[in-house]
Amino acid sequence: MRFRETLPRARLRLIEGFSVRVDNDAKSAALAEALWGAGVGYHIVFYATLGTGIGTGVIFDKRIYHGRTGSATEGGHMTIDYRGPRCNCGKRGCIEALACGTTIAARARARLAESGAAWSKLLDLAAGNLDQVHAETVGEAFRLGDSLATAVLEETADLLTIWLGNMIDFLEPEVILLGGGVSDLMTAFFGRMRENLPRWCINPFCGEIPLLRAKYGHEAGIAGAAALCRI
Ligand SMILES: [Zn+2]
Repeated sequence: MRFRETLPRARLRLIEGFSVRVDNDAKSAALAEALWGAGVGYHIVFYATLGTGIGTGVIFDKRIYHGRTGSATEGGHMTIDYRGPRCNCGKRGCIEALACGTTIAARARARLAESGAAWSKLLDLAAGNLDQVHAETVGEAFRLGDSLATAVLEETADLLTIWLGNMIDFLEPEVILLGGGVSDLMTAFFGRMRENLPRWCINPFCGEIPLLRAKYGHEAGIAGAAALCRI
């Protein structure tokens, strides 16, 4: 593997008797999904974990695609809006900065502050404290029928749809798998995403690509580690 040497790997090698494999967590989780999870039976798997950040991995025929140095498939840092908020990576408007859990909570807090929506269930759930509005709170309020929470999640779904349209046009995977805590919130919007995808994708067959929940939830990390060490 042309994975550029990393410090942890160099250190771990000093532990005699151990064979060490190191890789990115999202890429490893993608491999686990392709081998044993929701990606079984597909040759080209695009996986994304949506959480406090957005990590992605691409698997071709049960092998991780690494690029030249191991730095490829940082799909979470694809810019969707160049005037958008600054991402942790330094760029502006990455999908991670627009649709991660932290941003969902921040957008909900901003809308609450702007509208003074005292009727929103979000405020009830947060005991009136805006600082206590988290992505999970938005999800809970949505399930209770809160319109502000619904609007925030619909907007997130639309941003993710634009992003996935780009991904399909570039990669044309056989399946798209979404994992991570935010994907739990977004499951109810998968239908909306499928419906709107053709607006953001020139691939005439984009509707044929399954958009599925990943199999591994909180176990994605350990499943990924196991996948790396399977041989
Ligand atoms: Zn970024």
